[in-house]
Amino acid sequence: MSSRCYDLIVIGAGIIGTSCADAAAAEGLRVAIVEPGPIGGGSTAAAMGHLVAMDDDPAELALTRYSLHEWELFASLPEAEFSRCGTLWVARNEAEARVIPARIARLGAAKVEAHAIDTQNLYELEPALAPGLYGGLLVPREAVVYPPRMALYLAQRAQSNGATLYAGRSASKLGHAAGTDQVLLDDGTQLSGPTLVATGCALPTLLPQLPMRARKGHLLITERYPGVLHHQLLELGYADSAHGDADSSVAFNVQPRPTGQILIGSSREFSATDSAVSPAMVRRMLERAFDFMPSLRQLQALRTWTGFRPTTPDGRPYLGAVPGQNKLWVAAGHEGLGVTTALGSARLMLDLLLGRTPAIDPAPYAPSRVIA
Ligand SMILES: Cc1cc2nc3c(=O)[nH]c(=O)nc-3n(C[C@H](O)[C@H](O)[C@H](O)COP(=O)(O)OP(=O)(O)OC[C@H]3O[C@@H](n4cnc5c(N)ncnc54)[C@H](O)[C@@H]3O)c2cc1C
Repeated sequence: MSSRCYDLIVIGAGIIGTSCADAAAAEGLRVAIVEPGPIGGGSTAAAMGHLVAMDDDPAELALTRYSLHEWELFASLPEAEFSRCGTLWVARNEAEARVIPARIARLGAAKVEAHAIDTQNLYELEPALAPGLYGGLLVPREAVVYPPRMALYLAQRAQSNGATLYAGRSASKLGHAAGTDQVLLDDGTQLSGPTLVATGCALPTLLPQLPMRARKGHLLITERYPGVLHHQLLELGYADSAHGDADSSVAFNVQPRPTGQILIGSSREFSATDSAVSPAMVRRMLERAFDFMPSLRQLQALRTWTGFRPTTPDGRPYLGAVPGQNKLWVAAGHEGLGVTTALGSARLMLDLLLGRTPAIDPAPYAPSRVIA
């Protein structure tokens, strides 16, 4: 059977695959993109779209910082729906507030502007917060975007730079013949060339040697209430929920959409494998949000939904060559930070693919860390 040849075959068109395809096509590579569903219709469509520097792991901070810098290039792009609301981390008590100076130091060392906020200032910034909170940490340059629209934009830009989209097709088999990688699509089409697997939670179907768990999350969006909320608000204990291994957890995490709607999150569950909305989990998540912002109780909810975060055992994405395979690459496993880190991940992948030295150390994300 004849095979169509490419310089890079990107499997999966979520925010990660489309970022990689866009970066590769911009460098003049002949790119194929394979996607069975809507562009950005997987985890990407479920996301909050918060662009945030996470500083509790040096590798995560390096990748988020690098990516936030890349996101600035899209700050005025209508398709990104970029809104620079800033992030305000809220302390419930003195013990939580005690971590703020260390976080400011870590973020500052990575050149992320951050300020301590005293209690009075906290209520000036967000008057609807519950009384009795203990100040916070403001990261003023952070922003939110609309992830599925951005993924679509990146896929279209890649196509305008020559990429071919195999829409409605999935990769059913990876192989190797005559010194090159082969990808067999479900309609029998065969593609050949260096291959990048960016299938998020579905990674084990094609690369079972790379462990991945899907971590369910719920979100809720309200009707329009302009002026109720000004910043993306998170509780300072959020990282415990995000990085902890608890089977289920909730954390206060709310976002003002540019439309005036309020996006309320978030939950994390390992053992829930169905995509149905769980009323019990929504209630638990909302009770957490109401503790921090009681007036949210008065608002009208419009929609709730779920999504799955692609989660590796150590919480870091797999970015790099698949060990033991020739010209087979992977970019997947970004858990709750894939929107934030998509653009930096794509830069890193392109540098590795083209044999250049990446701007940040790729070692912490190398897939070889999980397989000998
Ligand atoms: C509730 C929730 C809130 C979140 N909030 C944020 C946030 O605020 N900020 C942030 O940075 N991140 C957030 N995330 C995380 C973010 O959504 C993910 O990390 C990111 O979307 C992962 O992107 P991806 O491209 O790897 O996966 P996906 O978007 O799932 O894309 C993978 C694609 O691969 C395709 N695919 C699968 N199998 C095949 C195959 N065999 N052949 C071809 N294609 C295939 C799928 O159809 C899919 O389109 C959130 C996630 C959830 C669930």
